[in-house]
Amino acid sequence: MESTTSNQVLFNDIYKPEHFRALGHQLIDLLADQLETVQQDRQAKVYPHEDPELQLAYFNEFLKEKGDPYATFKTILERSTQLQHPGFIGHQTAVPSPITAFAGLFSDFLNNGTGVYEMGPASNAMERTVIDFTAKHIGYTEQAAGFITSGGTLANLTALLAARKAKAPSDIWEEGHNEKLAVMVSEEAHYCIDRAARILGIGSEGIIKVPVDADFKIRAEILEASLKNAQDKGYHVFCLIGCAGSTATGSYDDLDALATFAAKHAIWLHVDAAHGGGVVFSKKHRHLVKGIAQADTVVLDYHKLLMTPALNTALIFKDGQLSYQTFAQKAQYLWDAPDHDEWYHSAKRTFECTKSLMSAKVFINLKTYGTDIFEKNVDHLYASAQVLSDLIRDRNDFELALVPESNIVNFRYLPAGVTDDEDLNTINGRIRQELIEEGAFYIVQTHIKGIRYLRCTVMNPLTTTDDFERLLDSIAALGHIATS
Ligand SMILES: *Cc1c(COP(=O)(O)O)cnc(C)c1O
Repeated sequence: MESTTSNQVLFNDIYKPEHFRALGHQLIDLLADQLETVQQDRQAKVYPHEDPELQLAYFNEFLKEKGDPYATFKTILERSTQLQHPGFIGHQTAVPSPITAFAGLFSDFLNNGTGVYEMGPASNAMERTVIDFTAKHIGYTEQAAGFITSGGTLANLTALLAARKAKAPSDIWEEGHNEKLAVMVSEEAHYCIDRAARILGIGSEGIIKVPVDADFKIRAEILEASLKNAQDKGYHVFCLIGCAGSTATGSYDDLDALATFAAKHAIWLHVDAAHGGGVVFSKKHRHLVKGIAQADTVVLDYHKLLMTPALNTALIFKDGQLSYQTFAQKAQYLWDAPDHDEWYHSAKRTFECTKSLMSAKVFINLKTYGTDIFEKNVDHLYASAQVLSDLIRDRNDFELALVPESNIVNFRYLPAGVTDDEDLNTINGRIRQELIEEGAFYIVQTHIKGIRYLRCTVMNPLTTTDDFERLLDSIAALGHIATS
């Protein structure tokens, strides 16, 4: 029993409160110092540029010897992208309010699996509170219900499964496929919609991509013809998916028009509002999703516009009863009454079984900063994006792709004398690469109709007009080098 005894000593040590306390204090100081650094020193690096293979080699080597956790966390911090840096104007991931990191700590410490009530009593109740709050802002009635799930991708897949359950002529969940099914979606939809549809087994022919107009909104006037065309080929269209907003440009589809069409043909309307759905909290911007309350399901990422760490996504049903149908099957060992609509057993409705305490991360923001904090953040970020877009428009050597409806701004450097799009694509690609290697800013790029644009998503509420000016100056400076 000697090894057992020595392991007992080891485990006592691992779980010792004093170790946790001491390391915790140190790590909070480390993170608070980092927050201070990136807020005060605009030359601090946002993205620690490193070749992926070298990064891998580093961590492989690093693991070879046992080491101090403080030093390990410090290494992880130094080799990570700093979203808290006001120069982070890249991907659509939230800059989490620092307090939510404590919710993460609590989630991981408590490890309340949440799938069944007894594994997450507080978690399941908070989830209901947060979802009801969100449903009300969407404009849904008390009939609505939903849950939090691990990301927009999984939420969209779950919504399409629910749509199929409700609208397909036969019960595919039980019997498998025996008819040709299809969904209709804007060609600007996030790639995860395409992926979800393929997972559903409907194949590429069943994914009907509807063209967009000059503002990147689905062309509602051609839906009838698209539907007719699909029906002529023997397809049963069970779902129409609206974008609010689209991924590349943040454009909002005309949801009222989509709702009218879907209702007329008894098609499920799903709205992918993973990014832009945050506007439901904003009096100023909610007109962008006018009609959203007619959707059968809505997906909304708290971890995009709503200051919450990823992953954290609401999937809400207009008719809450239907949220229990998607995965209806007997799991007797988990539930006394598998066929009952028990909101407090999360796993009855989610793809996941075990789930983290996601609701706490949304809840803590609302509880601490007030239920209008999401509105304030959305209004602030959308206003900032307008500032950036105005600055771009005012500069001769820049071209704005379109006036943003959200906080996503696409533009390119357009030096005098260069007109060929291929050349411009090369120049702008080079500019971005050098910009992120310099380190003071992090932005991304996208292709729209064959043209490469630099793409900024204003996510950090601490990014200022001054930062935008410096960003554009840096791009112009790099552009001069690239063209000379
Ligand atoms: C971000 C996003 C997704 C994917 O969501 P994840 O949470 O990253 O899985 C889907 N659709 C849209 C419109 C998005 O903006």
